[in-house]
Amino acid sequence: MATSNFLPFTRPAIDEATIAAVGEVLRSGWITSGPKVREFEAQLSALFGGRPVRAMSSATGAMEIALALANIGPGDEVITTPVSWVATANVVLRAGARSVFVDCDPRTRNIDLALVEAAITPRTRALLPVDLAGLPVDRDRLYALASAHRLRVIEDAAQSMGANWGGRMVGATGDLVSISFHANKNITSAEGGCLVLNDEDEARRCELWRLQGAAKHGDSWDGMDVTLAGGKHNLTDIAACIGLGQLPHLAAFTARRGELARRYFARFDRTLGCELPLEDYAQSNWHMFQVLLPEAAVRTVFISRMRDAGIGVGVHYPAMHLFTLFRKLGYGPGDFPHAERIGRSTVSLPMFPAMADGDIDRVIAAMGPALHEAIAAGTVRSKRA
Ligand SMILES: *Cc1c(COP(=O)(O)O)cnc(C)c1O
Repeated sequence: MATSNFLPFTRPAIDEATIAAVGEVLRSGWITSGPKVREFEAQLSALFGGRPVRAMSSATGAMEIALALANIGPGDEVITTPVSWVATANVVLRAGARSVFVDCDPRTRNIDLALVEAAITPRTRALLPVDLAGLPVDRDRLYALASAHRLRVIEDAAQSMGANWGGRMVGATGDLVSISFHANKNITSAEGGCLVLNDEDEARRCELWRLQGAAKHGDSWDGMDVTLAGGKHNLTDIAACIGLGQLPHLAAFTARRGELARRYFARFDRTLGCELPLEDYAQSNWHMFQVLLPEAAVRTVFISRMRDAGIGVGVHYPAMHLFTLFRKLGYGPGDFPHAERIGRSTVSLPMFPAMADGDIDRVIAAMGPALHEAIAAGTVRSKRA
């Protein structure tokens, strides 16, 4: 199990300078939102071509605010993918709107844009695509669809920090873009996120939603007004300081992840019957390296045999429409066959920038025996059935 050389499926890379800088913030007397948050926002904005950026305590909060900014509420529909972290669909329900799922493209495992048009109704207000594993959704097609149907786009780019579409960094283009700095994401602030906005007016409204709707009267120190029931989504300077320590490594982290992906592809035993991800070194940030196990394999057996070999494997994600919450909305098995197969068979193999080449070889070596046991368990199961 968790031996000293256990290889987790992911692990943040925080350098000593960042650890020291966090200590300075803690000693400074100002630990919540302040100068570090403003600096973090400024550096993010520079990365995203000068677009306004507001830091958040989570990407979930950023998406809730994005929906509020787009005036999405009861009676509205938002189209999204069934294969994502459940935050993607939860935020729509929390806004009082309906999350409408569309199946995935089995090649990209992202929302199948060819199926979106058929799901659009007079109530549809927005598209909420997800760049699963850091592989960007086709932005040209996405925005062509959105403009043809006059829809807002809220990009759930939680996983695609540092990825690009056609050479333009995710976040630098588009409508509202939400990015996560959760501990497992490519750039982290422990917890945190940001929203990329269209203009300063929208950014000011975003600030109101971020913190209790409270605004100062002009430049006066005296008096304030509250214009809307905002939430509590501000980032701390402690977290922003961690994020600032990560940004200089973004290009190197992304490059290293790409190298590790290449090694997986080069070493992978193709006779095992697994389905590998789309091989896109130009655009993906390789947030995760996910393979689909053969249908005959029992995934829990595979995961526990890998753990026995000292290797952590994740599941990202079971198809959301099969969760109780969404079944209550009328969804059920058979609705989205590609999403369901991905949800049943996907495993995330170790992928993080501090991994050594030899770690990939270790994963590859462990996979054969683990998969054979998982398939044997499946054979027993199907004989019993
Ligand atoms: C991580 C993640 C989120 C949520 O981000 P938080 O910062 O944890 O709120 C949303 N969507 C996707 C696709 C994610 O991977």
